[in-house]
Amino acid sequence: MTSEVSFVDLGLAEPLLRAIADVGYTHPTPIQAQAIPLVLKGRDLLAAAQTGTGKTAGFTLPLLHLLSRNRPAQLRPGRPRCLILTPTRELTAQVEESVQAYGKYLPLKSMVMFGGVNINPQIAALKKPLDILVATPGRLLDHVGQKTLDLSGVEILVLDEADRMLDMGFIRDIRKILALLPTKRQNLLFSATFSDDIRALAKGVLNDPEEVSVARRNTASELVRQTVLLVPKEQKRDLLSHLVRSNGWKQVLVFTRTKHGANRLAEKLVKDGVPAAAIHGNKSQSARTKALAGFKDGSVEVLVATDIAARGLDIEQLPQVVNFELPNVPEDYVHRIGRTGRAGATGSAVSLVDAEETKLLADIEKLIKRKIDREPLPAFVVTAPDREERAPRPPRSHERGPRANREGGGRSQAGRSAAGKTGAPSPGSGRKREDVRRATRPAKERPDNKLSSRG
Ligand code: AMP
Repeated sequence: MTSEVSFVDLGLAEPLLRAIADVGYTHPTPIQAQAIPLVLKGRDLLAAAQTGTGKTAGFTLPLLHLLSRNRPAQLRPGRPRCLILTPTRELTAQVEESVQAYGKYLPLKSMVMFGGVNINPQIAALKKPLDILVATPGRLLDHVGQKTLDLSGVEILVLDEADRMLDMGFIRDIRKILALLPTKRQNLLFSATFSDDIRALAKGVLNDPEEVSVARRNTASELVRQTVLLVPKEQKRDLLSHLVRSNGWKQVLVFTRTKHGANRLAEKLVKDGVPAAAIHGNKSQSARTKALAGFKDGSVEVLVATDIAARGLDIEQLPQVVNFELPNVPEDYVHRIGRTGRAGATGSAVSLVDAEETKLLADIEKLIKRKIDREPLPAFVVTAPDREERAPRPPRSHERGPRANREGGGRSQAGRSAAGKTGAPSPGSGRKREDVRRATRPAKERPDNKLSSRG
């Protein structure tokens, strides 16, 4: 998905090139190669690009370049120079993460703003100087109403995922916001689709725009073989060990939702004899580099990563991706499976889905516009789940005794024992329970599947 041009060729400033090197990108994606030079020239842009194409860096990198070049010595608080509007809070947060990551060697200040949370911390943050504001339309207008935000200094406007903003009914809010911006400004509009409504919006917003588009990069439905295994949450780790071993997978990227989950899973795999390492934001740079090097040279077969940590990983064409947990944001699924099946090679993505994740699965299927095949569970050995993975319930008779007190890290504080709190290893630690079961029927037929829907 990368092109022959380099980031240096595109004319980006040195602090940006350094940040790009840090996240591990070697070449611009096609949308970046097209969009960046035009934005640097100050042109308005109408870009057809869907998520997964690298569009975020396509607008973030050049706008950081422009904003850092002509930054006034004094900035007025609460008066951003660049406004990026996105449809959802998740996207807002993701875009701002990109702004932070690519802008880490620049003095620019950014802020994220979305609804559904207390407005006061945002008001406090707006009392400080601000270059870039990433916001959803509704909350932004709340701030305008409270006069805590001044949009008269906006030099660059970005409408990201404009089609989704229209789908979500934001058109009136967008029009209100447009009326508050200075007329002389640069405008960038990104959209996956081009309906008449988008064309009409673009006409009203953009001034003599350049158009760029990239071929629909539909990895999700075309290049990657995708399957779902329905499995109770507390059996996922055993199932994954089994899949890695029985399929002889040698380079698997496994996604978890949390850093803690990534660590625990990697530890479990190692215990099961699978060379694994976790990579996430709490790890030092050297630990991450080491894990990645091991993964590339084959000494680490399974790399467990969070979405954010995986973003910058410079690994192309992985044969296998596993979603140990589905992401909360459907677009992240597309990003995740985009790590495999690149450049025409076929890849495979398996999602381990428990009863609590069926809604997330439905959202993903809606986004990629297809149903993902459910496969029957293979037979695998189920060991005792850790307390942390299951809903609180009274211990079964065979669990009373030392093991029942092991690991106090469960969700239920009330259920913690003294031994759990101190984390003291009990005699039973690390030993697999004798109560080994074979899972031969699909998860939803098994009576113990009820466990995962409790609590
Ligand atoms: P986006 O389409 O902006 O949501 O980005 C999709 C994914 O591509 C993100 O995980 C980015 O971190 C990643 N990405 C963006 N630009 C590049 C690049 N030049 N090389 C490799 N990965 C990239």
